[in-house]
Amino acid sequence: MSETNDHQTETLGFQTEVKQMLHLMVHSLYSNKEIFLRELISNAADAADKLRFAALSDDSLYESDPDLRIRVDFDAEQGVIRVADNGIGMTRQEVIENLGTIARSGTAQFLAQLGDDQKRNAQLIGQFGVGFYSAFIVADRVEVFSRRAGALRSEGVHWASTGEGDYTVSTIDRPQRGTTVELHLKPAEREFADPYRLRHLVRTYSDHISVPVLMPRENEPEEEATETVGSDGAYESVNQATALWVRDRNEITEDEYKAFYQHVAHDFQDPLLWSHNRVEGNLEYTTLLYVPARAPFDLWQRDGKRGLKLYVQRVFIMDGAEQFLPSYLRFVRGVVDSNDLSLNVSREMLQQDPAIDSMRKAISKRVLDMLERLAKDDPEAYSNFYREFGEVLKEGPAEDPANATRVAQLLRFSSTFDASAEKKRSLADYLAAMPEGQETIYYLVADSFTNAQSSPHLEVLRAKGIEVLLLHDRIDEWLMTHLRDYEGKSFQDVTKGELDLGQMGEAEPTDADDASEQTHKELIDRVQQVVGERVKAVRVSKRLTESPACLVLDEHDMGRQMRELLKAGGQTLPEMPPILELNPSHPLVGQLEATSDEGRFEDLALVLFDQARLASGEQLADPAAYVRRLNHLLLNLMR
Ligand code: ADP
Ligand code: MG
Repeated sequence: MSETNDHQTETLGFQTEVKQMLHLMVHSLYSNKEIFLRELISNAADAADKLRFAALSDDSLYESDPDLRIRVDFDAEQGVIRVADNGIGMTRQEVIENLGTIARSGTAQFLAQLGDDQKRNAQLIGQFGVGFYSAFIVADRVEVFSRRAGALRSEGVHWASTGEGDYTVSTIDRPQRGTTVELHLKPAEREFADPYRLRHLVRTYSDHISVPVLMPRENEPEEEATETVGSDGAYESVNQATALWVRDRNEITEDEYKAFYQHVAHDFQDPLLWSHNRVEGNLEYTTLLYVPARAPFDLWQRDGKRGLKLYVQRVFIMDGAEQFLPSYLRFVRGVVDSNDLSLNVSREMLQQDPAIDSMRKAISKRVLDMLERLAKDDPEAYSNFYREFGEVLKEGPAEDPANATRVAQLLRFSSTFDASAEKKRSLADYLAAMPEGQETIYYLVADSFTNAQSSPHLEVLRAKGIEVLLLHDRIDEWLMTHLRDYEGKSFQDVTKGELDLGQMGEAEPTDADDASEQTHKELIDRVQQVVGERVKAVRVSKRLTESPACLVLDEHDMGRQMRELLKAGGQTLPEMPPILELNPSHPLVGQLEATSDEGRFEDLALVLFDQARLASGEQLADPAAYVRRLNHLLLNLMR
């Protein structure tokens, strides 16, 4: 590169998402201002980790300065704080990409959920992760000086912004590698440029960082602050600088565990629970696994952030190592540090290594243990967990058949025994409430709790006091195809097949039996004639006590939710007409049976059929025809 005076200064606009994020940050996080320091130190520590990793295959990147460190400097008079690292650094292009855009998919949708409620926004941003832009909570101008390890000194870069619409980048001369972030504090935030305040914050939030965080030695006149990370004697380390997971469990405080979680998970809330284990024997590794308190915004995004941070013998190898967790436990965050893997292990190698497979199994067990314990010891906290992650857990029985029963035990369902969607019951609760002689766990799948609750299919079960689980998550029908039985009891969808409860339960059996099928044969045939191909069969119902009609499926037919799931996935499915069941003891069906007027019979039969469809949550193919028929019948009534 030729020496020119032209530093190629460019002024660039932030991506729209960044502008929104900056706005959000500044307006909703003022009560958590101090997190900026944690975020900047966290980034500096990541940069050190990345350099250590890159240097495994090219140690010239250390540029003969292998002592990685972070330095926090301040200038009280100027109201300036600097966080400097000698980590991997950034090229000009990387600075533009990393500090001018947000590359995570789903960001736009995430931001679209934001409203005026700042408390709620603060929570949402916790799910997103705060990061570099948190600097603008306290600073009205931020400058970044950086040079990539291994690059020429003339390839340094300077970035500056006031956190409004744009930023400038220029190429500078920078002898030292790594990154310095310089905050020009807002007048009201100058109190942060104080040695005691800073030292306290570093200790509180960044003690676990495995590189030393240096600050000017206490009680000594301040060094002329430069943007160099020096190792001179005027600086001392203020943190422990040992990897947290290496330390003994008994010596780690709750606060340290929490602070470490916030660093690894890029979350700013506390975790719900964690489990720290050292495994010895055949394979040697340490895991520190966390369950977040809230679902991240990209939990359902295919390319959302997931996986553990992988270390090999304390050396950071990669973020988001998905191979150590099954997908239904993708909400787990944390660290796995292996003593056996090779330092140059790649993602591809992880996929093939049988040792990883057995680690994944062991880690899955740990997570399930941890959740079981929570469910037992703190049902309320467990129900919070379940609200956030229950739907993900439901992928478990299909993905991990070996643990299907354990996962099933962790599931919670709405039920006819609880009048609200928030109250959920476990399969164990269901079994405990089951009357003697009941061999089946009954359930119903619908689009919503309300639809499930008001389904006519529940009538006879309700009358007999038999509990039915009300399933209303998108994934539920699919889940149930993977749950064959639980503690020897099979599952039955109450909208499918013949529902013969016989003598079971409290109420008298309905009078629907074979004899009644015979008695109403003529009615059945006539209705069949009118409804035609739209149904597979018409029959007398054993499930209804209050409604005149309902639709059911054959035992092995695919339900509506499954069909819609598959259709959304692009599959074409053959039509599968339902079975129409009639309740002869209902006065409307009685009217139907008694009428000899063909036109009236047809209107009434079709209205009952359409009503049954509506009650199943279906849409009518010809709603206008339904309205016309219904009005016809109503007018006749008034005559
Ligand atoms: P995150 O840390 O969650 O990736 P941040 O907003 O904190 O998000 O940072 C954005 C990106 O900017 C980082 O992923 C990293 O690539 C880059 N970055 C930030 N600070 C540094 C630093 N000190 N050294 C090198 N790269 C950095
Ligand atoms: Mg960060």
